[in-house]
Amino acid sequence: MRPITRSALRPYLCPSCRSGRFAGRRTFGSKTDQIPDVYDVVCVGGGPAGLGLLAALRASPVTSKLRVALVETQDLKKARAWNLDSDQFSNRVSSLTPSSVSFLQKIGAWEHLATERAQPYQEMKVWDGETDSRITFDWSSETTPFEDLRTVATMTENANLVRALLSRIAASGDENLSIFSNTTVSSIENGSEIPDGPDLSAWPVLSLASTGAAQSSQPPTRIAARLLVGADGINSPVRRFADIATEGWDYNRHGVVATFSLSEPDPAPFPVGTRTAYQRFLPSLGGPIALLPLPNNHATLVWSTTVENAAYLKSLSPKAFLAMVNAAFRLSMPDLKYMMGMERPASDFEASHESELTWRLQHTPQNPHTPPMVNGVQEGSVASFPLRFRHASTYISPRVALVGDAAHVIHPLAGQGLNLGMGDVASLSSTIEYAVTHGMDVGDILTLERYTAERWGVNAKIGGVCDTLHKLYNVPGQGPIAWGRSLGLEVIDRLPFVKGFLMKNAEG
Ligand SMILES: Cc1cc2nc3c(=O)[nH]c(=O)nc-3n(C[C@H](O)[C@H](O)[C@H](O)COP(=O)(O)OP(=O)(O)OC[C@H]3O[C@@H](n4cnc5c(N)ncnc54)[C@H](O)[C@@H]3O)c2cc1C
Repeated sequence: MRPITRSALRPYLCPSCRSGRFAGRRTFGSKTDQIPDVYDVVCVGGGPAGLGLLAALRASPVTSKLRVALVETQDLKKARAWNLDSDQFSNRVSSLTPSSVSFLQKIGAWEHLATERAQPYQEMKVWDGETDSRITFDWSSETTPFEDLRTVATMTENANLVRALLSRIAASGDENLSIFSNTTVSSIENGSEIPDGPDLSAWPVLSLASTGAAQSSQPPTRIAARLLVGADGINSPVRRFADIATEGWDYNRHGVVATFSLSEPDPAPFPVGTRTAYQRFLPSLGGPIALLPLPNNHATLVWSTTVENAAYLKSLSPKAFLAMVNAAFRLSMPDLKYMMGMERPASDFEASHESELTWRLQHTPQNPHTPPMVNGVQEGSVASFPLRFRHASTYISPRVALVGDAAHVIHPLAGQGLNLGMGDVASLSSTIEYAVTHGMDVGDILTLERYTAERWGVNAKIGGVCDTLHKLYNVPGQGPIAWGRSLGLEVIDRLPFVKGFLMKNAEG
């Protein structure tokens, strides 16, 4: 628990009792040079969530006059200068739901995005590798014949989004704005009451340290926050300071990512130019493989699998890796398991995985719904990330709020993590806006209640659904669970209104 401070007790004690009770501490020496720089909102973390919040606050005429600061360990200059050729794509790509996109449009960030690098898709094919039962999500049941098919989600490189948010923030000018990049938060503690100055005893005061990288100006050593926002990822120092507990577990799985070129255009016949996302659950290998579309006939991979399989896949030559990915969408589970156990080729020229795939494909009935073959993997794009579940017990504490991965981390099988973060940011920025409009203190716990009430349950529901799907699709074989989940998929696939409901929920 954070210690109860003098100002937290203030409403319950009359001024004379207060001065008697705290006389000793009052004199506890705050010289003028120890007064930290005071901000209305300090956001720790310049990932998509932190920058999203800052951009939203700067975009609103109500909150744009607040004095705000952002602290980020990484060099944001590199993020601003991020640039890749049109046929190269970052391997960290997220599917943004229409809700996230419309929020980014509303705060004026979308127009700063390189949209030619983003790829909307209108259809999603999901099937069970064990039983072959399937479900197809598209908006055809929801749109009229004269309407364009609606977008399921838009694939966007995280770096493209971060650059757009930085550029939106820069466009808002630098009045009342401080960005401390290459700067880390080394500690956070409650401040103290400063004689003849502000009473900061219930305000978080952050000690900042430069990471040593070159920067034009040194950050201040201490800053105080009326409201401190933790957008500082899974190991959030802000969450630790606020003493907010998390529950969660490690999935003992890794998400293998990579960027591919495709052998042929996506076969979606109508309307021309629409794209499809593909996901096949592979229960015996630890999780699903997903291939999601990128512009110019490219695609990005998220293959959730065991730590051993991830290490094996990453150790393969590009040709063998491509063969494994093509196999994962086409071969039966026993064939695929056999290939996952093959000796690593002794040299990059040995084509054992490719020949094995070619031979096995001749003996495998072909499913018409598989994606085009991947035929090239971008150099340096194969990587893996540990998959974890975490959920904070609350998102607020006096003068503290958590957003994004600092508040919740979920399995990526439904591509929702960053979208939940955008939902948090939309809710917290409107909570702050409401407080300013109504003359409330933006850091007061009563102000912040609205934010946690709006977001905690929604995030718990979506994180829980992803966790259940992960567990359900990790039971190998053809037993009753496989039968039950197949039946479930087939039933949903035949009920357009249930599918529509699921899609609207996924849309955010
Ligand atoms: C394989 C994989 C695929 C995914 N696919 C999708 C998808 O398709 N769709 C989707 O919505 N989500 C997806 N996600 C989830 C998504 O990537 C994350 O939810 C999102 O990036 C989290 O953003 P964030 O800003 O909350 O946190 P982060 O991106 O972790 O940012 C936290 C920031 O805080 C900074 N920081 C930390 N500590 C300090 C400190 N002491 N001082 C200063 N700065 C600090 C860090 O440097 C970092 O920049 C995926 C995740 C994985 C692993």
